[in-house]
Amino acid sequence: MSVIRPSVKTTSVDYVSLHDREIEKCLAEGLPQARAALMAMVRCKIEWIKRNPIPRPSPLECAYCGKRKNLIPAPSLGQMVMVHDECLVPFMAAVSDRAEMGLREAGLEVEP
Ligand SMILES: [Zn+2]
Repeated sequence: MSVIRPSVKTTSVDYVSLHDREIEKCLAEGLPQARAALMAMVRCKIEWIKRNPIPRPSPLECAYCGKRKNLIPAPSLGQMVMVHDECLVPFMAAVSDRAEMGLREAGLEVEP
């Protein structure tokens, strides 16, 4: 008899610890403190974005404005996401904002 597990993610990430570890790594690589903190934050954001993909992006619509035609693939870390050339910068900013919000919810202090 098999046991059906609930589809809850069992691998939640401790982003505060991850951030601390990344800072340590960056300092060990010889980066100055401010730069190490920045790099650690970027690495935490990337990790968060990988684990919290954009819900069901359409390959036919811009993930930012929702319109069709003349789309380019966005560098979206493991997901196929299409945007317009002119939507890429605001889209990436929105992805970054979303990750910052998620990291704040996870207890990490994110500078506005
Ligand atoms: Zn667009």
